[in-house]
Amino acid sequence: MIAPLIGLVTKLEEGIGSALQKVHELGFPTCQISTYDPSYFTDTNATKILELCDIYNIQITTLWAGWPGKVVWDFIEGPATVGLVPIATRQERCEIMKHASDFATKLHVDSITTHIGFIPENPTDPLYPGLVSDLRDLALYCKNRGQFFCFETGQETPVTLLRTIEDIGEDNVGVNFDGANLILYGKANAVDALSIVGRYVRGVHVKDGLYPTDGRDLGRETNLGEGKVNVPLFLSTLISIGYRGPFTIERETMGLEQLEDIKRSKDYLVKLLSGLTPIH
Ligand code: MG
Repeated sequence: MIAPLIGLVTKLEEGIGSALQKVHELGFPTCQISTYDPSYFTDTNATKILELCDIYNIQITTLWAGWPGKVVWDFIEGPATVGLVPIATRQERCEIMKHASDFATKLHVDSITTHIGFIPENPTDPLYPGLVSDLRDLALYCKNRGQFFCFETGQETPVTLLRTIEDIGEDNVGVNFDGANLILYGKANAVDALSIVGRYVRGVHVKDGLYPTDGRDLGRETNLGEGKVNVPLFLSTLISIGYRGPFTIERETMGLEQLEDIKRSKDYLVKLLSGLTPIH
């Protein structure tokens, strides 16, 4: 049997103390720290976070770093506003990623994670070579600090993600695999996508959801086990391909509803993981 290493995505915007207290009180030994606000990347905050992790015995498994400014999570404005793809904001956001890498160093965390955005499906698209070059620069920045640079799945197909990783050509590029995102964006079946990028997976978001029902809006997130991810098969497939990293629950709901969703998801996840045996 495997010991389930579970975790929770927790947001610094909720307050550093509250964010880590939530992880502790809900009984998670690991977390991914998330923020879209680079003003959190200070020495004082790093010290505070490390102290709380020590008190609560929590391990941070990645720093999930977003970006300030306009971001629209849909198929219409998304390509021009999400991630590092848009030219208008790319340099500013790449600089923020470097600050995130510096902050991760202070937290003794060995990876940062972000959405790259709607990477061109066509590799001869004029945007693509410059994007790859900027991503390689970021990957090298992280590599020099002993870190992985991880792609959060979502806006790109698994093949496009694979090609981009190959074209960056550095050995410290990984994937934080959010199977639900692949469905919410209509990009892939979550389980099948592991056949394409599974070997690069270094982190997992345990989440569920439905496919889009129109051409403009993402699909809807659901409770774990009620969407199209096929969570039992998703988890067993991860184990079968050798994944031994944390299983990190992510819930986009808010407040009390989110707490109840997380508790339900955790019970479901622990039950599924406790029934899995590594397949050699
Ligand atoms: Mg996610």
